[in-house]
Amino acid sequence: MKLSRLGEFGLIERIRRTTATGRGVRIGIGDDCAWVEHAGASALITTDLLIEHIHFDLKWTSLFDLGYKSLAVNLSDVAAMGGVADYAILSLGIPATFDSKQIDEFYRGFNRLAHRHGVALVGGDTNVADSLIISVCVIGHPTARPIRRSGARVGDDIYVTGTLGDSALGLALLRKKWPATKPGVIRKLVARHHRPMPQLRAGALLARLNIATAMIDISDGLLQDLGHICQASKVGAVIWNENLPISSAYRALLGKVGSGYALSGGEDYELLFCARPRHRQLIDKLHRAGRVKITRIGRCVGAKQGIVVLDDSGKPIKSKIPGHDHFKKQ
Ligand code: ADP
Ligand code: MG
Repeated sequence: MKLSRLGEFGLIERIRRTTATGRGVRIGIGDDCAWVEHAGASALITTDLLIEHIHFDLKWTSLFDLGYKSLAVNLSDVAAMGGVADYAILSLGIPATFDSKQIDEFYRGFNRLAHRHGVALVGGDTNVADSLIISVCVIGHPTARPIRRSGARVGDDIYVTGTLGDSALGLALLRKKWPATKPGVIRKLVARHHRPMPQLRAGALLARLNIATAMIDISDGLLQDLGHICQASKVGAVIWNENLPISSAYRALLGKVGSGYALSGGEDYELLFCARPRHRQLIDKLHRAGRVKITRIGRCVGAKQGIVVLDDSGKPIKSKIPGHDHFKKQ
């Protein structure tokens, strides 16, 4: 089958079905990180690939930001399991036309974030390529039982950390879809696109408190990533559009134009998680104590209902905007 029909996630599922599980594998293909028991210790492992012209454009991304972001997206997957990140391996395919100073800048950005989270870069590989290719692998460990995508149950509340849609709006601005009239606001949104903040603290806190039944990081858009939780947990979801956490910068630019970027824009790297209603008070307390911004945006329902977004008057929003799939045409 052509990959444009099968899609990224259809392909991953196909790979998963034909892959045998191995010794010590607690979670294999299909979650944000693998979880393995290795030589008596427990490890979380994840990898992400960033390719020039697909994931970034050097016309509007600095090498510093790119280094920062290539680690951030991996740390976000560790956060999604509630884990702590320890080591990174970084491999680069670099066009021969690059200058060594550009690579220095890349490593400055990478190391800035690595230092902040106590991550040690311990190796990688270097080669020549037609365009810049960045592959990062991060190894971490759980401090409590890792939170899977598959534990949500009908009746669970659905929450997100932070605000949604800023990164995708920032990218749209970089692509110059809007006239640059509000420089302060635009700077904020673009910064969220370039330097996402992996929610490691929030993820670890939720794991330690043992209140999240399922969790994922939002890399491909809320609806897409919620879809992964729903599929893995065999539930459906109702999302209340008016509850979506929108930043003041997003609001300043889009006003009431809509929540399209918040629902489907990718690269927020916030956490999406589910919890039993009896934990509402505790979660609210975490939010109010300022430990992490958390918003309740919906509820898990029966799988048959699929994912429904309701508008302010309780009517389903018809246009279901897809999230990101690398092979399917957007
Ligand atoms: P994320 O967006 O959290 O990085 P992905 O959607 O990229 O997750 O991947 C989902 C799952 O599929 C993960 O467990 C990942 O390790 C696995 N995966 C993705 N691509 C491959 C591949 N080519 N071979 C084996 N496993 C893969
Ligand atoms: Mg992820």
